[in-house]
Amino acid sequence: MEIRELSDLLQRAGVVDAGSAGLPAHAMLEACAGTVLLNCADREPLLKTAEVLTQLYPEEVAEGLRIVLEAVGAISGLVRIRNGAQTEAAERMISVYPHLTFVEPLSDCPAGDDEIIAREASVPEAVILEAETAYRIARAVKYDEPVTEKFVTVSGEIAHPGVYRVPTGTPLRDLVERANRTLPLNEVRVWLGGPMTGRPGTWDEQVTKTTNGIIVLPRDHSLFRNAGIPASVQLRRAASACDGCGRCTDLCPRSGMGYPIRPHLFMRAAAQRDFSDPSVFLNSTYCSGCGICELYACPQNLSPRSLITEYRERLREKGIKVPAKEAMPANDSAFAEHQSVQGDQIVSALGLKKYDGKVPAELMSVEMQR
Ligand code: SF4
Ligand code: SF4
Repeated sequence: MEIRELSDLLQRAGVVDAGSAGLPAHAMLEACAGTVLLNCADREPLLKTAEVLTQLYPEEVAEGLRIVLEAVGAISGLVRIRNGAQTEAAERMISVYPHLTFVEPLSDCPAGDDEIIAREASVPEAVILEAETAYRIARAVKYDEPVTEKFVTVSGEIAHPGVYRVPTGTPLRDLVERANRTLPLNEVRVWLGGPMTGRPGTWDEQVTKTTNGIIVLPRDHSLFRNAGIPASVQLRRAASACDGCGRCTDLCPRSGMGYPIRPHLFMRAAAQRDFSDPSVFLNSTYCSGCGICELYACPQNLSPRSLITEYRERLREKGIKVPAKEAMPANDSAFAEHQSVQGDQIVSALGLKKYDGKVPAELMSVEMQR
């Protein structure tokens, strides 16, 4: 199928990139430079949406990739998949589409952004196609099926954690009730997305085309506490508690990739309102928002990511141009070594261990009302 025809079809079906803020899939395709990396491994701890989906529908996921590759004129595809747990899915994918190359995630980087995922696979220019996006593309082409449902990991204080298939528009409250909440409603809150890059949600919010996971947690969990601190308070705390130890920079994946971002310098300059070196602020725009600095690295429980996000917003509002991306460093082993924070370390540090590994490798059967 030609890219123009595929684009129109995906637009009609309302297919969006399941791994982003909902970028339309057709726009993503048009930006495709020719290398497409199918991501079948979830990006954050506790989430299993991509892995369960791939396990259940490997043929359709592979077919989605094949359709994309044909449309953009590429002849082979890369698939990021976990060895062992997803071996059977890989074999079934090969049986329908033999021109696939599989790559194992080098590290279990707990909030892998697109650049890390592409760089791990040694294809820094690749467009990342999420497993669910590929699945939706295959269904749209084969059945002209519009996107009216979503696969969502439901985890946390839940009797039946798992990956649920629900209609879009389902209230989070209803989904959590079906999954059997284990604590009274007034003792828990809902977290939307993964623990690293997600945000506090509300019960009245609904499942959208980009809802990959929801985690039900006690109201006083640190994720909610940290997310609720105003920027002005974060700045005051940074001014009094940041000792410039540099651990946030040491563990920052973007810094490890060779970008000139230095969150410890940013924190010092922001807290002291020292604008003598604008590059400290401008370079913070290389931040991916992964959250490692504030959810894991900082011994003082400070919030470099949140403050960087705040400053980046202000730069954007003022129309200040962010620096162009510099060439990536060539040292792959240094890059791989730098991805030293593993998912289970994050899970322990955030007090989420009791919820980890509880999602079964199958779809939870529950009928939700449309
Ligand atoms: S969130 Fe923190 S650790 Fe992650 S890229 Fe941004 S500055 Fe670095
Ligand atoms: S890790 Fe925390 S205390 Fe250390 S430099 Fe970074 S923000 Fe400051």
